[in-house]
Amino acid sequence: MLSVADATSQILAAFTPLAREVVGLDRALGRVLAEPVTARLSQPPADVSAMDGYAVRGADIATLPVQLRVTGSIAAGAAPAQTLEPGAAMRIFTGAFLPVGADTVVIQENCERDGDAVTVREGSNRPGQHVRRMGNDFRAGETGIAPGRQLSARDVALAAAMNWPFLTVTRRPRIAILSTGDELQNPGEALGPAQIVASNGFGLAAFVTALGGTPDYLGIARDNLADLDRAIAGAAGADLLVTSGGASVGEHDLIQQALLARGAKLDFWKIAMRPGKPVMFGSLGVLPVLGLPGNPVSALVTATLFLKPAIERMLGLAARDTGPATAKLGAPMKANDQRQDYHRATLGRDASGALVATPFPQQDSAMLSLIVRADALILRPPHAPAAESGETTEIVPLLGGCYSI
Ligand code: AMP
Ligand code: MG
Repeated sequence: MLSVADATSQILAAFTPLAREVVGLDRALGRVLAEPVTARLSQPPADVSAMDGYAVRGADIATLPVQLRVTGSIAAGAAPAQTLEPGAAMRIFTGAFLPVGADTVVIQENCERDGDAVTVREGSNRPGQHVRRMGNDFRAGETGIAPGRQLSARDVALAAAMNWPFLTVTRRPRIAILSTGDELQNPGEALGPAQIVASNGFGLAAFVTALGGTPDYLGIARDNLADLDRAIAGAAGADLLVTSGGASVGEHDLIQQALLARGAKLDFWKIAMRPGKPVMFGSLGVLPVLGLPGNPVSALVTATLFLKPAIERMLGLAARDTGPATAKLGAPMKANDQRQDYHRATLGRDASGALVATPFPQQDSAMLSLIVRADALILRPPHAPAAESGETTEIVPLLGGCYSI
């Protein structure tokens, strides 16, 4: 059976970054930058005051106290009209441009004003103090944000400061999502005897949205080839079709057959992992198809391991540190068999502040109530020997958990 690592690299090889589009800054949050953001101007554009006080020449305040003539007042947004002469000071406010001749600001708390004179009484008299030099934040032409970054509020602020009203980002991947099963009914609808509520489609759609894709939920296909065929046709034009359920080898697991009947090429349909053995990957013409297991926890775990990297590749997201990848075990673990295990776990800190991952005693792949309380998955490689509490383990943080990815 295929290893998780081999399955991941086969899946990744099928995707490349999508086309670019231009979005306004108000739509940029969470998008992945496709072109560098370079400064269209310098910030600050000139030497500016960092405080409310008086603009002076550093040489004039070498010894304190000193009395200076006040020859003007400059507010933020007003261009200073005159040069500051020796022996003079100008009233100045935070953000205002320094007049020519001034190189230093003394804060108003250390000054005493008397008509046209100001006495600088005390405090630091270091030349250049309380001045933000032209370009000390960034200079025109400098790169502020590199492509491949998912834009945060901080990035949006910097792009705005660099004078960009819009940004070039990667198009959102359109992910078609299909649930399969005769037993499924949409949430809120009347349930027939032996029916259960379909949760995977909604969970996966939210997962796609959270990662910056656009989900297109195709609904529920019944376990017959005709209905599956009709539903699969609805995925045309998507960047990826994700199915859930029907991927095992039972008589009612028909997704493979339905895809093959349409001429799909299957790369693999089984991975040596738990939960999530029946994961399938292939392509239907230009449409990649990822078949996830029906069990709700398996669907979300395999989405974390395989769908997330596929979306990130399509978005052109740069590889970067996505949170802690190791933790101490909070409970002992049994020796593992030949499959790679992903145990649902909570994350916390021990007395020394080290990250601790504690697995739930129950690991049923149908129990959504447990995965909701989990923060991460503990990765147990094939044939891992039994492990004691406190040993270091590899973890995979879960979307929405603490130390989220
Ligand atoms: P399957 O792979 O189709 O055999 O499904 C495995 C298990 O997952 C069965 O118990 C299904 O009822 C359940 N299942 C399949 N699809 C969904 C879904 N969309 N939501 C919740 N449970 C599902
Ligand atoms: Mg089924």
